[in-house]
Amino acid sequence: METKWMRVAAALDDPEGLNNDPAILEAAAFLSRGETVAFPTETVYGLGADALDPAAVDKIYVAKGRPGDNPLIVHIAEKRQVDDLAKEIFPAAERLMEAFWPGPLTVVLPAANRVPRRTTGGLDTVAIRMPAHPVAAAILRVTGIPVAAPSANRSGRPSPTTAKDVWEDLAGRIPLLVDGGPAGIGVESTVIGWPQGRPVILRPGGISPEELQDVLGEPVELDASWKASVDRPLAPGMKYRHYAPKGQLYLLRGDLDAARAEIVRRATDDHAAGRRVGVLTTAEGRTAYPPFCEVVVCGTRRDLATVAAGLFSALRFFDHRGCEVIYAEPFPPEGIGWAILNRLIKAAGHRVIQVPRAT
Ligand code: AMP
Ligand code: MG
Repeated sequence: METKWMRVAAALDDPEGLNNDPAILEAAAFLSRGETVAFPTETVYGLGADALDPAAVDKIYVAKGRPGDNPLIVHIAEKRQVDDLAKEIFPAAERLMEAFWPGPLTVVLPAANRVPRRTTGGLDTVAIRMPAHPVAAAILRVTGIPVAAPSANRSGRPSPTTAKDVWEDLAGRIPLLVDGGPAGIGVESTVIGWPQGRPVILRPGGISPEELQDVLGEPVELDASWKASVDRPLAPGMKYRHYAPKGQLYLLRGDLDAARAEIVRRATDDHAAGRRVGVLTTAEGRTAYPPFCEVVVCGTRRDLATVAAGLFSALRFFDHRGCEVIYAEPFPPEGIGWAILNRLIKAAGHRVIQVPRAT
């Protein structure tokens, strides 16, 4: 299959121009006839298809090589579309949609019968989000259909934050790629659900647990299955390999200086054994490592959003440099740090190296 790459020409702050942009009209046309389209959102690039058409949704799973029981998020342009997708809208979900839509928050609600089980990965709940990115919003507005869209990467790879990343993974596997420049936040949406009636963060993301708690006025739990791996390193049993670079990634945990010393020690051994070593750090750690390390500076610790924004492209960069072993510095479990840790723990296949904490 030939993949068509179309760049959005209209200014992103011109909704009328976007409504008539050739790339956006083409995307809407492809989606309406049951094809897949990759497009930018404010989190990462997504691979979309008509959420109500099982045959169209199937093409997403095939292109990505995604396991069929991994559910998709349905993207909408207007809040009233939730009524068509969900059987019931909890009052707390209503408040969150009001506060954070359009934006990087996905709510999981009981699915209406018309939503194919192919879209929900066999579940009787459906995940719904209204993206804020002007290109995503325009495509959804012009098609008018709800669009199922996971991240536009091959399953298991780091999520794509530029059109070039999508091309790297999916060229020849999808008919259309809409290039709208880099995605902004860099990690996926926060997914929240009410599995036992209480709010649970099923995946940390662009909206922090603290922000959700502020709106709901009640504590919001983090899903136990991955929270455990933050608390307890080397927890086994993750279902899928995810976000992973080709080299073996290790995440450090504990005091930053102790972690850096441990990384230098291990990297020296790796280097002596002939392995190419990468280190994921921030502006603060630029000069903290020996010259044989491939050091990737990802944002600054003064603003963890900058780390999130560069995280996936940093992981891809290690691949381009042929790193066989990669060490990631520790990050604090707070704000968007939860999302950074979640992605790094998964990318590391739960290989977490504990060093002493700061005293
Ligand atoms: P992706 O868009 O590739 O980042 O993947 C979507 C993710 O959303 C899934 O892997 C789940 O973590 C979450 N998700 C989607 N639908 C549901 C659902 N019905 N229940 C729980 N989690 C969901
Ligand atoms: Mg994904």
